[in-house]
Amino acid sequence: MNTKPILFLEPVFKQMIWGGNRLGTDFHYPIPGEDTGECWGISAHPNGDAKIVSKPFEGKTLSALWEENRELFGNLKEDRFPLLIKIIDAKADLSIQVHPDDMYAKEAENGSLGKMECWYIIDCPADAKLVLGHNAKDKAELEDMIHGAKWQEFLRYVPIKKGDFIQIDPGTVHAITSGCLLLETQQNSDITYRVYDYDRLSDGKPRELHVEKSIDVINAPEKSADTMVAHVQKLPENTLNELIACKYYKVFKMDVKEEFVFSQEYPFLNMSVIEGSGTINGVSIKKGDHFILPAGYGKVELAGEMEVVASCANVHVCA
Ligand code: ZN
Repeated sequence: MNTKPILFLEPVFKQMIWGGNRLGTDFHYPIPGEDTGECWGISAHPNGDAKIVSKPFEGKTLSALWEENRELFGNLKEDRFPLLIKIIDAKADLSIQVHPDDMYAKEAENGSLGKMECWYIIDCPADAKLVLGHNAKDKAELEDMIHGAKWQEFLRYVPIKKGDFIQIDPGTVHAITSGCLLLETQQNSDITYRVYDYDRLSDGKPRELHVEKSIDVINAPEKSADTMVAHVQKLPENTLNELIACKYYKVFKMDVKEEFVFSQEYPFLNMSVIEGSGTINGVSIKKGDHFILPAGYGKVELAGEMEVVASCANVHVCA
């Protein structure tokens, strides 16, 4: 018997200029509109603090639980819940953007964390390409290309497929493109610098750009694209497959067929069901469910047919 509770969460939805309706049609979430871009499934961020919906912590926000019941998270010392898990539906292209690292964000953004992030591609068009990095050879060329609006020359487009996994470091220019549905695991930060927004209007006005801050933080030259993209379509079934271990997080993919048993020994483990349905230790779960397995949870018994993306914080303990 497990004595520790599973922490199920109620997602927070974000309507976006580029959002669509697939979080409703594909994931059966109660979306607020036909322009729903993001589902914040596991979040303790002030811009979308998800509530626990299972006993005994029903109604508490994840940030309050982090403050008051730190033992559930292995007594980690971080001043805030370190990760943020989203599902993103891009009906249209997202702006060309970049995130700062912790050091820059702390100075320039009032103590915020920087943002490292990664994407598991749940679905995308057959010919999908993402913006991942740029072609400028140094900072001077980068400034020239950005100030001169030489976007065709500047932006590096990389073909991707359903089931690819992409790691985006702070300082890497990136953009999700139309038709992509993905799960994002990221540092708990909402700091984005917009470099270019295709000259689109939102409520009749262009959205704010952050060109100078972007130039400050963009890496130049950029590393090669094949260091950012992993093709993880054919993973062993019933295995905790590690997709990445970076400074801030580890991300895993599980393809459950019939039964998979493992031991939860991390300070906490975020779990998001992205396909199928089944049970966890006898409790029903299905596509779209997000939950956290707390510290000391122990034996995890998954049954059914499902795909799960999981993550833990790569801080102090699970290094
Ligand atoms: Zn981003």
